[in-house]
Amino acid sequence: MSTLEDIVLAVVDDVAPFVGQGKVADYIPALACVSPERFGIAVSTIDGRCITAGDADERFSIQSMSKVLTLTLALESRAAALWTRVGKEPSGDPFNSLFQLEFERGIPRNPLINAGAIVVADCLVSDCADPRESVRSFVSYLAGATVDFDIAVATSELETGNRNAALAHLMRGFGNLENPVDRVLDTYFHQCSLAMSCRELATTFGYLAAGGTVPGGGKRIVSTERARRINALMLTCGTYDRAGEFAFEVGLPAKSGVGGGIVAVVPGKGAIAVWSPALGPSGNSVAGVEALRRFVVRTGWSVF
Ligand code: GLN
Repeated sequence: MSTLEDIVLAVVDDVAPFVGQGKVADYIPALACVSPERFGIAVSTIDGRCITAGDADERFSIQSMSKVLTLTLALESRAAALWTRVGKEPSGDPFNSLFQLEFERGIPRNPLINAGAIVVADCLVSDCADPRESVRSFVSYLAGATVDFDIAVATSELETGNRNAALAHLMRGFGNLENPVDRVLDTYFHQCSLAMSCRELATTFGYLAAGGTVPGGGKRIVSTERARRINALMLTCGTYDRAGEFAFEVGLPAKSGVGGGIVAVVPGKGAIAVWSPALGPSGNSVAGVEALRRFVVRTGWSVF
């Protein structure tokens, strides 16, 4: 029988032909200069092991993977009240789409598309004395390492994030933002710019695999019920307008980011983080999706 170490190495071989396929995100200029020829993978298990291969210790921009972590923080202060301001349905639209938000009167479909994450950031701006620092220290705690913002990436998005500004202004117009757009976007762009490695991400997301506690008998982060619900949102909404196909091919709760990372959760077993910067049309890493698919085929780890 193959060990997890053997399987991780086999996946690196499996995906070699896919690395570099797709296109690095260039709508955020600071991301455009990352080489598409990178690939890393890390698997953290709920008994506290972490198996890695490739560029697993290289930090990259976590982008939308941060949306799960800020959602976790906002649910702590807002609990069920959050769901009056953001939905729980997949959007079927690109992550930065505007038109559904107009039809639906400023209530985003879910917290894992940009508009929904901007509402979540708004909650943190209201509820935390220093929202950026609350996010940074929470993520550092989960990662077991000091993580930091990439200021060049955050500044680059601040200068070019016109669609996000449009989403935020539209929601403020509908009365669904409590704070001025600039303050909310400052938090949102900084959370997206957090720089982390696959090893750190797999460790960070372990609480969602371990029923809400830090793996290895650590602190409770969320209740078991909330961990289950966050996983459900990741399964249905975490890979945007490709969530159906992703569930079909991979069958795990997951969250992608335009930095090329994807993190997947296997409840009761562990978390898998993959990174390869070239993206497919929906903004998910091409080699990353393929790596997760091969990993699931080889291990049989699935929620189905
Ligand atoms: N910061 C990015 C944006 O707002 C996040 C998008 C993503 O990773 N899908 O466009």
